[in-house]
Amino acid sequence: MAPNSVTEQRRSGFCRAAALFAGSLVLFANAAAAEPIGLGWPQPNGPGSPVYITYSYSNLLDGSFFLTSPDEFRAATEEALRLWAAYAPVNFIEVQDSGPPPSDSPYLADHHAQIRIGHQDMADLANAYYPGVDGLAGDVHIATGIPWTIGEGHWNFLEAITHELGHAIGLEHELVEPAIMNPSYPFHRFQGLGSGFLFPADIRAEQRIYGVGVGSVQPLDPSPEPTTYLLVGGGLFALFLAGRGRMRLSPSGVLTAASLTSLVGRRMTRKHRR
Ligand SMILES: [Zn+2]
Repeated sequence: MAPNSVTEQRRSGFCRAAALFAGSLVLFANAAAAEPIGLGWPQPNGPGSPVYITYSYSNLLDGSFFLTSPDEFRAATEEALRLWAAYAPVNFIEVQDSGPPPSDSPYLADHHAQIRIGHQDMADLANAYYPGVDGLAGDVHIATGIPWTIGEGHWNFLEAITHELGHAIGLEHELVEPAIMNPSYPFHRFQGLGSGFLFPADIRAEQRIYGVGVGSVQPLDPSPEPTTYLLVGGGLFALFLAGRGRMRLSPSGVLTAASLTSLVGRRMTRKHRR
């Protein structure tokens, strides 16, 4: 078995601990103390060299939450990934999701993303799996029944996802110094998009695994390229004009960028004259 399979199916204590927050801080400490030593994703050329980690959204962006939109979930997740990519050579690459729906049932890694982010019904607030070789390794789940917010609020997704992604890349809880990876969850250190940060203890812990460096976050672009906007918009505009008998499409029906420029120019000129 690969060395990093040791912790492949162990859940982080964060979410279970967080769910017990109101009940007992002692349980927190116990849960955290029982955690294994985290190991990172493969880094063939050793600390300080690039690590490539794929991620995907299993069902996080399916619109199941009233207070947070899919765009906000995506933006917060990317911000959290950028925080971890700022201090170590970890490169997060979004891929199209594949694999089973989010659950804690083991599955084969196959070619699914290493970190799959989704929600599920669960008693805990969230959970995350340490790096490993099976499908669940690296996966992050948040609870479906929590009113997650992005801005100021008790259930701050930005802080939660930053913490959980820390586990997903191999970090344990920080038990001494202030850290995003503290097992207790203050809920109010981040105020909204753009307010995320890591503490020195978080950065040191990450660099102990991966070395010092700078990584990257490469999301899939969900939006059409600007030129596509232009052509689609131009096509609709052309149809509008055609419908009003003010132009004829070419026999092939193809609208080129050049003809679009001409059309827009004529249209704007006509409007300007009014
Ligand atoms: Zn945790």
